[in-house]
Amino acid sequence: MSGIDTLPPLREVIATYQLAAKKSLGQNFLLDLNLTAKIARLAGDLTQADILEIGPGPGGLTRGLLAEGARQVLAIEKDPRCMPALAEIADHYPGRLTCINGDALTVDPLVHLRAPIKVAANLPYNVGTELLVRWLTPPTWPPFWQSLTLMFQREVAQRITAEPGSKAYGRLAVLAQWRSTPQIVMELPPEAFSPPPKVNSAVVHLTALPEPRFPADPAVLNKVVAAAFNQRRKMLRSALKAVSPVIEDHLIAAGIKPTERAEQVPLEGFCALARSLASA
Ligand code: SAM
Repeated sequence: MSGIDTLPPLREVIATYQLAAKKSLGQNFLLDLNLTAKIARLAGDLTQADILEIGPGPGGLTRGLLAEGARQVLAIEKDPRCMPALAEIADHYPGRLTCINGDALTVDPLVHLRAPIKVAANLPYNVGTELLVRWLTPPTWPPFWQSLTLMFQREVAQRITAEPGSKAYGRLAVLAQWRSTPQIVMELPPEAFSPPPKVNSAVVHLTALPEPRFPADPAVLNKVVAAAFNQRRKMLRSALKAVSPVIEDHLIAAGIKPTERAEQVPLEGFCALARSLASA
């Protein structure tokens, strides 16, 4: 017995379905169902929401989400070997779990989900970062999601929540803090996973703001922030040369010293710069 449901323990599931972890899919599984239930609770009240889970693997977090009362879970998993294990969970929670075998970067989940929608995932970090940027930069706001509860390498979690002036401050911090409130809500040591990864992990919870903190066009902001932090050691007047031939004028109009470096510019400054560039 697992403690949160009457399905077999995850070690047994992994043995039954021969789910030896694959490095190529970034598989580091959570096997402690008390821990996955705790992570599920970090996503807030699930009873009134549909949950999009990316990368369920053998289903540890999926079981946590369902045991915590999720109205509906849609789980997208790339590894076909995991589907029978997930089907067993779907049988245990009739009508509440739908599983798709596919790549989260290409599958459109929205046809299967009803608002309000929360996202929960323990994903390989490269896929996680790419999806996070997509979820943060839709052309219109508010987005389809109410909150994101995502496991990252701790270093990436720190980049999402970083303040100006710190080494970790960059594109992820600006994009995340512009239209959401990100918070590190749990830290996990490598031993929490099987096999253990090389680094510590952390769960970040992001709540979507009804409106961006400061007005700006998402595409322009994304472009300017990417360029500014791409050459973060350079002064902005040279780092952003390619963005506009009169970048110094725009920087001054936005209240930013052209000799400053990206690291020192707060979110408000980048938004003002994006507005000045968009109005040119
Ligand atoms: N959620 C499970 C857990 O916590 O134990 C598994 C986590 S494991 C770190 C990442 C999972 O994401 C794996 O099951 C892997 O197969 C899956 N995955 C990797 N790339 C994916 C992608 N592009 N789309 C969907 N799933 C993916």
